[in-house]
This record gives sequence, C-alpha cells and structure tokens, in this order.
Amino acid sequence: MIFLDNAGTTRMFEECVKTYSHYACEEFYNPSAVSRKSAHVYSALDEVRRVVLRKLGAVKGNIIFTGGATESNNLAIKGAVRNGDYEYIFSNGEHPSVYNVAKSLLLAGRKVKFVGLNEKGTVNFDELKEALSEKTRLISLMLVSNETGAINDIKKVVALKNELAPKALVHVDAVQGFMKIPFSVEDLGVDMVSFSAHKFHGPKGVGGLYLKSLTLVKNIVDGGGQEYGLRSGTENVPAIMALKTALEKIDVKENLKNVTKLKEVFNKAVRADERIKILDFHGSPYIEVLVFPGVKGETMLHALEEKGVIVGLGSACSAKKAGNRILENIGYNKEDILSSCRISFNAYMTESEVREAGEKIVETYGKMLQKLK
Ligand code: PMP
Repeated sequence: MIFLDNAGTTRMFEECVKTYSHYACEEFYNPSAVSRKSAHVYSALDEVRRVVLRKLGAVKGNIIFTGGATESNNLAIKGAVRNGDYEYIFSNGEHPSVYNVAKSLLLAGRKVKFVGLNEKGTVNFDELKEALSEKTRLISLMLVSNETGAINDIKKVVALKNELAPKALVHVDAVQGFMKIPFSVEDLGVDMVSFSAHKFHGPKGVGGLYLKSLTLVKNIVDGGGQEYGLRSGTENVPAIMALKTALEKIDVKENLKNVTKLKEVFNKAVRADERIKILDFHGSPYIEVLVFPGVKGETMLHALEEKGVIVGLGSACSAKKAGNRILENIGYNKEDILSSCRISFNAYMTESEVREAGEKIVETYGKMLQKLK
C-alpha cells in the first residue's frame, strides 16, 4: 500500500514502539508518585520538555504535554480567554480544533473576528490589519495549512500585532510545520505553539503546547495539578517518551530536501495527464491538492485504494462532511472542490513509490473518465 495521506497521520517509527513498550511495561511508574522510580520517570519527562524546547528553537518557556493538538489548541485558546472588552482573532483557514473553539467563544458571547484567506491560501493581511486593535487579546493562526500546505508569514503577523495590538497573544497551530519545516519560536516571536506527535511518526494521542510563560493561560480541566497545574491527569509517559524518540530521529532539513524531490517526481508522473490539476500553494512540499475534473474526489479515493494507493480528502477530521471550508475561502468553485483529493508525503518514501502512485493516479483517472462517457 502506498500511503499518501501523511497529513492525516503517519506510521509510527519502530524505535518509538520500542520506547513506548519500555515505558509501558518496564518503567511504567507514575511520575507524580513518591518512589525513586517515579522520580526517575518525572525527570525523564522533564528531559523531553528540554528536547522539545530545543527543537522549537526556544531559549526559554515551558512545554505542557497534552492528549494531542486538538487539546493543545483548546487549552491555548480557552485558557487565554479573559473577562473584559477583549477580541479574539482567527482565520477562516483554521483546523476545526481552532475554528470550532472560535465558534464556541462566539456562542458564549465573546467578540470573535474571522479573517479571510487570499488566493495563495494564506491569511489576508488587509483583513488582519483591519481586525487588530488595542482590544485584541489573542490571535490564533496556523503555520502550515493541513488542507493546502500554504505557509502563513507568522513573523509578519507578529510585526503587525506589535504595531496595532501590542498586548495581544499570538498562538500558532504548528501541527503541520513542527519537525517538517524549519522555524524557531524566538525568530517568529510567538507566545504559544501547538504540536502533535502522530504527524511526525510518533504515537497518536500525545502532543503539547509551548508556552512562553506559564501565566499566559489558565487550566481548562481541574484535577491533580500535573503539568504545572495546566493539564491535570496522569501523564501519558510511554507516548511522551516515544515522542522524544521521534524528535531525536528526525533531521528536518534532510527530510525537507527528500520530500521536495519526492513531490517533483510524483508531480512529473501526474502531469502525464494534463486534465489533472495540481494545486500548488508554494508552501510546504509535504502537502498538495489534486483536482480530477469530471470525477468526484471521493470516487477517486476509493478507486485508488483498490489499486493500492491511499490519498486524503482534506482534513480527516472533517473529510466526512460535505464541502471544504478552506478551498471555498480561497475561491475555488464547488466542482473543483468536489473533485479534489489531498496528497501528503512523508520523508521516508522512495522515489519509485511516489512515481508508481502518480502513474496509478493517471491510469485510474483515465479509466474513470472512460466509464463516465
Ligand atoms: N491542527 C492541524 C493543522 C491538524 O492538521 C491537526 C490534525 N489533523 C490537528 C490540529 C489536530 O491534531 P490531533 O490529531 O493531535 O488532535
């Protein structure tokens, strides 16, 4: 099976499985208990925090481990809400774990502003400029779009914020960027960053939130006070330790080079049929969109699976719902959107694998069009 839905999830590294197993079956101690064994696990978790901070390019700050980026995004946004005449800014391109939190703030009576996307799939700066004010409490934007691979210029967002809303916090959902695209939180100048391990070959159900300072958010779950009181519940030690194994294995720059080449090889094979549209947003090479005029994306997806190729239909979390909010916002028409599939690579694929996938896509599309005649 050739798996081209790596923005949805990735296969866990064997090394992570070993680490996971060790901390599930041998060093299985509760980090909050008092024994020496527990203290050892506690400090092992602290070491993971240091590794994450280093990979994020942070010179200071903290890492709160969570049950994945959906939870990190909830903590960052809901935890930053304060009573008073404040406003919260999001883009129309956000993942449901941000977008739907924004909508729930709106329902709860908070002042929420949504900023549109431009034709490049990135946030519209004119609208952002208009939305920012002294009242802005939080701006939450993604680094890399999970739907298109478009990359937001977060540094420019922060510069604009410093000018128009100096007190506002900036949260970045970096799920599709962390360990894939080089960036540093110090360089970007952001306050909070969400990430998720299963997008870079770690376990599912574990992620984290980088906080420049622990006082930026309040806890949204009450309990035993783990994770500096910001995320109660016994830490998922095996998964957090396995996350560290993935961090240590990945070479971001090397992988980026590989994926750029893989995408070139794949696109060359797909271009054999000029009717297939490749939507390239010139962002992350890990993600692109293909449009198959005349054939539904979902029909293509199922036909391709029969041939041993798995592609995506936009965000797995929303794939079963009709339409695609993000492509609609960028300005694509309904037909193109319905005929689209998301392609997403991982750095450990081979050129022959992606070439074969491209050829199978061309062949399958040709056959589907024939059938429809
Ligand atoms: N944000 C983005 C941009 C994502 O792509 C995803 C995963 N589809 C998430 C958040 C949610 O991450 P998790 O699966 O860890 O909850």
